[in-house]
Amino acid sequence: MSRPSQFAVFGHPIAHSLSPRIHQAFAQQFGIALTYRTIDAAPSAFADAVRHFFNEEDGRGANVTLPHKLSAFALADEHTQAATRAGTANVLTRLPDGRLAAHNTDGAALVRDLTDRHGLDLRGHDALLLGAGGAARAVAWSLFEAGVQTLTIVNRSPEAADQLADAIGEPARVHTRYWDDLGNIGSFDLIVNATSVGTLGQALSLPFSLVGSRAVCYDLGYGTSAFAFLAWARAAGALHAYDGLGMLVEQAADAFELWHGKRPDTEPVYQSLRAL
Ligand code: NDP
Repeated sequence: MSRPSQFAVFGHPIAHSLSPRIHQAFAQQFGIALTYRTIDAAPSAFADAVRHFFNEEDGRGANVTLPHKLSAFALADEHTQAATRAGTANVLTRLPDGRLAAHNTDGAALVRDLTDRHGLDLRGHDALLLGAGGAARAVAWSLFEAGVQTLTIVNRSPEAADQLADAIGEPARVHTRYWDDLGNIGSFDLIVNATSVGTLGQALSLPFSLVGSRAVCYDLGYGTSAFAFLAWARAAGALHAYDGLGMLVEQAADAFELWHGKRPDTEPVYQSLRAL
């Protein structure tokens, strides 16, 4: 019998990743046999670990998460537009000639979670994006392309927000403000927390005035890392407050389709993780 195809997720730490469970659940939908495991690599060991996985272990595809997304982009031979725009990659795929292709599915995943799962029509929304790191860069482009009316990007380090807005290059719709001004920039219909504050075990201090009367608030994190932001959103009167579990499942579905040429049904997998 032939050996199952090899897949993995690289991160540091990575032991508690849900990705192996998600990819196995998708594979079961199609009767595909695969091995999908976590590979913990410190930043200094990441490039060698990737090379070993693809060259020595016959790896076909890998997801990449914190803190390796920049490095994954840098070591790939080819880059999709989504990866190039974000400057980061969360998917590495071995091409038939052995070279590596980088892709970023984070932005498309967030938009699909908001629109398909949560039924939001983003057109006409005034959106606030908190953060300008790797995930925020992917998300900003996708929100813009999904038709938000305005996108205000606010980052602790203003240079990164400015760079992101400049890269999109639509000053009438996409602009930046300073973090210290959050108390006087009005209210928004959609607020996306793309900072890593929750993941770092901290909480943001945000004014309630940001939350419009029918606002949707979304934290890219999930589990305990999203608690503080979602509690803030509910206390401020948000209509809906969502965590990033749906985005996690959607970004995995994009990677799965890229590798296997089949589109998995994300809803049962999402529901089973939600019930954990
Ligand atoms: P990065 O490290 O690239 O970016 C971190 C961002 O958080 C930067 O904008 C940084 O600002 C900001 N930040 C960090 N600490 C603070 C603070 N104390 N106050 C204000 N801002 C702060 O991380 P990623 O973009 O890769 O990930 C961001 C989050 O999104 C993580 O929690 C990650 O788990 C989550 N994520 C979830 C996904 C999903 O599928 N649900 C997919 C991808 C990411 P500065 O530039 O000033 O340092």
